[in-house]
Amino acid sequence: MAVVDDPKAASDATVYSVYTDLKVMRDIARTCTRCDLCKTRTQVVFGDGPYVPPGEIGIMMMGEAPGEDEDKQGKPFVGRSGKLLNTLLEQAGLKRETIWVTNTNKCRPVLIEGKSVKNRAPTPPEQKACEIWWQNEIDLLKPQIILCLGATAAKKILDNKGFMITKDRGKWFQGPKNTEVLVSYHPSYVMRQQGEAFTLIKDTVVEDLREVVRRLEALRAGTAPLQPWQKSNKPDDGQLSMF
Ligand code: SF4
Repeated sequence: MAVVDDPKAASDATVYSVYTDLKVMRDIARTCTRCDLCKTRTQVVFGDGPYVPPGEIGIMMMGEAPGEDEDKQGKPFVGRSGKLLNTLLEQAGLKRETIWVTNTNKCRPVLIEGKSVKNRAPTPPEQKACEIWWQNEIDLLKPQIILCLGATAAKKILDNKGFMITKDRGKWFQGPKNTEVLVSYHPSYVMRQQGEAFTLIKDTVVEDLREVVRRLEALRAGTAPLQPWQKSNKPDDGQLSMF
């Protein structure tokens, strides 16, 4: 893999670049034209959070793509769904400013019909083109936990097209680059619920966030039980010794 901090890499769809500085990468990403979403975006919405050395960020929060408010303001999870997310984080005892918040796609995917401009999910080629940025965010920040919000981000991060949020939400998965991944509902999905369903889904997200807090505390204290895939990675786990 090439090691470059090179503006040309932002538009070179064939190079998987390894960046060495998060701010440099952010500035290069802001000029990215790797997919057609660059034609309709107002601006690239790069991840947001503390710029700290690798390993100091415990949690990376990963959504799908910016919406209208994010596209205008240039920050992930702002607007109504961002405000709801902040409230839910607070209820779970998490400070947003300690988390790296980002998306698997950094530009807003839109459906334009006449004068109407609506959000849509990114296509697989658009997701593939943007992978370089979140892969490098993980490389440079080395979070222990990735909290995916919504099934689109989960399928991409877990490389699991069969992921079903109704069945797999709230479970721990082996993530990329030694991370542990938990998936919860996207705040915009929570906002679409009404009455009792709203309370139920909102409380479910808060409980998922609390599980993330518990796991991070245990990981940092060195008391976290091994996950199933970590047990099976141990050389003699579940196998008889040959000697
Ligand atoms: S969505 Fe990602 S790959 Fe596409 S132009 Fe924006 S930053 Fe580049």
